[in-house]
Amino acid sequence: MDTASVTGRFAPSPSGHMHMGNLLAMLLAWLDARALGGRMILRMEDLDPVRTRPEYAAAIADDLAWLGLDWDEGWPDPAYCQSRRTSYYEEAFRALEAKGLVYPCWCSRAQRLAAANAPHPGEAVHDPRCRCASLSPSERAARIAAGRLPAWKVRVPDETVTIRDGHYGVYAENLAREGGDFIIRRADGVYAYQLAVSVDDMRMGVTRVVRGRDLLSSAPRQAWLIRTLGGTPPEYCHLPLLISGREKLSKRLGSQSTQAFHQSWDPRELVGHLACLAGLLPAPEPVSPRQLTDRFDWDKVPREDISME
Ligand code: GLU
Repeated sequence: MDTASVTGRFAPSPSGHMHMGNLLAMLLAWLDARALGGRMILRMEDLDPVRTRPEYAAAIADDLAWLGLDWDEGWPDPAYCQSRRTSYYEEAFRALEAKGLVYPCWCSRAQRLAAANAPHPGEAVHDPRCRCASLSPSERAARIAAGRLPAWKVRVPDETVTIRDGHYGVYAENLAREGGDFIIRRADGVYAYQLAVSVDDMRMGVTRVVRGRDLLSSAPRQAWLIRTLGGTPPEYCHLPLLISGREKLSKRLGSQSTQAFHQSWDPRELVGHLACLAGLLPAPEPVSPRQLTDRFDWDKVPREDISME
């Protein structure tokens, strides 16, 4: 690997305070890039104007700095905030449209969810395309004239896309049969996660994507989008989720947000605790992220989810 060009990223959504699961993902993303001598980018995924807030972005950046996870470029430069990158998403949207891969979709959320559910577990999934894909130009024009704003979907091929995940190994999905066409622009004009993240990883020269395994199934879609847009997909490394009891840690567990940790933890103790959960230390001890780079090894990180009990 050409380590000089290794580029990792933190890509938090500033829709709340970070919890332990986010911090673990950030620590491993940082260690993965730094252990290879690479750079780090901090990109704020603040696409959704309703769910995200600038004060959360500032709090997340503070948390990272407090833990000793530094970055070489990114926030607060607005060029690294997704809300300011619409022209790039627009360009990619037009490029996909020019290839005949985009169509407007008027399905309701309920229809989309129903279509995404296989009739019985294990049975072949729904038609990859919804009925909107086969509307005639005049039918589309009539809906638009009636003031009904569509979402926009990308037409996926009946093709199995395989990625080699750095932690979970070979992972393959047939895009048409598992998931089908997906939305790249919402009816309110906001570009969707899959398009934005693919365009950003491509344009920012990201070579290593480290994140929770709940996004593993997005990787084939993103790799396909990036290739279709003429880029080279990054390497993906997913990590196990931190679970509390039987639940994945989410932002709902507000009491475990880093705001509370700031009062009760020394940052080096918290890094040691996270490193122990990730299998990098036999027992928790105060440590800086920098001190962990030598012993960072994906083989030590468990593949099964990590219980916080
Ligand atoms: N912004 C996403 C999140 O906070 C992560 C996206 C990604 O890493 O691809 O869940």
